[in-house]
Amino acid sequence: MMNQKMTEAFLDQINKEFYSEYLYLSMKAYFANLNLQGFVNWLDVQVQEEHAHAMGMFNYVIERGEKVVLSAIEKPENDWKCPLDVFRSILAHEQFVTSKINELAQVAQDTNDRAAMLFINWYIKEQVEEEANAGGVLAQLELIGDDKSALFALDKELGLRTFVAPVIG
Ligand code: MG
Repeated sequence: MMNQKMTEAFLDQINKEFYSEYLYLSMKAYFANLNLQGFVNWLDVQVQEEHAHAMGMFNYVIERGEKVVLSAIEKPENDWKCPLDVFRSILAHEQFVTSKINELAQVAQDTNDRAAMLFINWYIKEQVEEEANAGGVLAQLELIGDDKSALFALDKELGLRTFVAPVIG
């Protein structure tokens, strides 16, 4: 059993995590059209991570004996000016998600749900990593500017990222 407010907050966050997956899938398509395969790989890892984030909460709501009710996923952006523009969007999006996770933690605190607080702590730590990852690539793109060979070198580096299924909770 879980407080109704807590359950609703989790369901809302599940939707946000699936939206994140959808947004990164849209960005993956953008880079695929540019034939920047390393960026495609980086976004593909991001897509899988967001799916894992959503499913972690999905499974948790069920584990607590509540019903998962899914809602419509918002249409993601699909048009960016350049790779730098994409990574500005990613960092802004992750900062938004961090604020949503903090709100979720606040609901857990307000409803005195200690178990949910412990569970949400994993997501709080994960958001630090998410912002650092996005901010790191963004900083590199800002240094690169119009240097195409540096962009291709970064593309090669981003191609090395691999997905490791997170152990959530
Ligand atoms: Mg996420």
